[in-house]
Amino acid sequence: GFSSSSKLLVVFSLSSGGLVAYSESQSSIPPNNRELEGLPKKKKVVVLGTGWASISFLKDLDISSYDVQVVSPRNYFAFTPLLPSVTCGTVEARSIVEPIRNIIKKKKGDIHFWEAECTKIDAANKKVTCRSTIESNMGKKEFSLDYDYLVIATGAEVNTFNTPGVKEHCHFLKEVEDAQKIRTSVIDCFENAILPELTEEERRTNLHFVVVGGGPTGVEFAAELHDFVHEDLAKLYPLVQNMVRITIIQSGDHILNTYDNRISTFAETKFARDGIEVNTGCRVVSVTDKAVNMEVKATGEKVSIPRGMVLWSTGVSTRPVVKDFMDQIGQGKRRVLATDEWLRVKGCEDVYAIGDCATLVQRKVMQDIADIFKAADKDNSGTLIVEEFQDIIDDILIRYPQVNLHMQSQHLSRVTDLLKDPEGNARKEIDIEGFKLALCQVDSQMKSLPATAQVAAQQGTYLSSCFNKRELADFQPEGPRRFKGSGRHEFLPFRYKHLGSFAPLGGEQAAAELPGDWVSVGRSTQWLWYSVYASKQVSWRTRVLVVFDWTRRYIFGRDSSRI
Ligand code: FAD
Repeated sequence: GFSSSSKLLVVFSLSSGGLVAYSESQSSIPPNNRELEGLPKKKKVVVLGTGWASISFLKDLDISSYDVQVVSPRNYFAFTPLLPSVTCGTVEARSIVEPIRNIIKKKKGDIHFWEAECTKIDAANKKVTCRSTIESNMGKKEFSLDYDYLVIATGAEVNTFNTPGVKEHCHFLKEVEDAQKIRTSVIDCFENAILPELTEEERRTNLHFVVVGGGPTGVEFAAELHDFVHEDLAKLYPLVQNMVRITIIQSGDHILNTYDNRISTFAETKFARDGIEVNTGCRVVSVTDKAVNMEVKATGEKVSIPRGMVLWSTGVSTRPVVKDFMDQIGQGKRRVLATDEWLRVKGCEDVYAIGDCATLVQRKVMQDIADIFKAADKDNSGTLIVEEFQDIIDDILIRYPQVNLHMQSQHLSRVTDLLKDPEGNARKEIDIEGFKLALCQVDSQMKSLPATAQVAAQQGTYLSSCFNKRELADFQPEGPRRFKGSGRHEFLPFRYKHLGSFAPLGGEQAAAELPGDWVSVGRSTQWLWYSVYASKQVSWRTRVLVVFDWTRRYIFGRDSSRI
């Protein structure tokens, strides 16, 4: 008979081996002699953006099959994880950017870059309208581009939640220019604070740095600033060195609340020791030229704090061009552009969205499957004979290849445990409701993907691998013989692999959350951070520059000139 969980496992793992519809070993069609081979004309691919998602897409794309045009208002790629280091001069701005033309040059083929922003996506006519960002005597040039495939990777913009005064009085930390402005502003605050004839209160106000948002960016900036002040500026501005105050305002109960709580606790304890104030459970309601006004969420009490420089870093929202596109395709009510597991935008043809501009809508696979089990219980007895599982499972595996992914996850045991009785023996029949509950719990463990460079880069790489196999797939639309007629999609769905995340906390200490529920904090983690971030640079040029900057900072300290 059906030997319970062990058989279930065998079925799942066997099937996972056979999942790749088009394996890597099948080479793509050679680039030359397209016409001789009877191949169609190259398809036009338009890529919007030069950030994490688009650069990893372009880096791996086989451009022999495509005519690629890249549109972005930025003619460079910026390594955003090091932006907080730019705000205090630990790393120079030019060390973390790579010109897009350097990247394109290496591709040697039909690939063009236009420095412009996309102002309109017309999915019905497969066309995008763009406007140059350069003001010339012809004004800002407008043009349009046709596409066969469109890849939207425009990232997201800062979310101010329409809080009054934020746009006028706060700094953001999203772009390289933002980091440069902050660097100047920090120095300005110190130069202002030591001017003659100021009262002590005025000096203190000037030197009160407020960070709104206790996520990774806000926390990292506060830590960088603390180091800058204590390691470099204190010696240069001895008159005011004891007047500096750094405050983080966080609406949640903890800072770094998307991280493991061991990391949040470590960060809060370290900041308390360093004298960085953390106000949790407070919502900023407005910012004026003199103060930050907030409300304590628990009591509704209103508090106003005098401020010098303010950094607003509370999250991101959708860009207007994407919002307009969402309205056109019937996604107007959503907060973020939705794609399916193959990163295709829902509601239109041949448009893909990757990175921060999109969210992957994970299908509630387990719930669907639970319903299939329920339907299989025709006599409504509430139980199913385990032997009958086999047919149902085979059917599910064909319909939902991603089930394997769930089953291989750490939650597998919870589902398979249900197939055993308390003594660990295989059950002959199972309780459907219990099984359904376990399946749904597995579903609810799946969080939506975070807006990080890691997700964006993996999506870009995944999409380029699909594009690289597309011609082959067009030749064999049903895939390898064993899948003929199964109606399956020609590519595997995208699967995100979390490789861990870091939070540098200043004073040569960092925290890291690594796969397998592994948390590491302290100085050794900071060294791990240095090595990972050096290795992740997109070119040897930026890698050398960044390592050089770190060494320069170590030997000479940070530069405090106001340039
Ligand atoms: P982006 O990298 O933002 O790129 C978007 C691109 O689209 C840009 O080139 C932009 O110029 C272009 N664009 C914008 N509008 C248009 C338009 N209308 N038409 C055409 N092009 C347009 N993630 C991590 O994983 N680890 C970290 O340590 C980390 N640290 C961060 C620190 C900071 C300070 C910030 C701001 C972010 C950090 N992130 C980190 C998040 C990470 O930067 C983003 O998730 C990532 O940049 C998203 O990539 P993307 O390609 O979707 O968007």
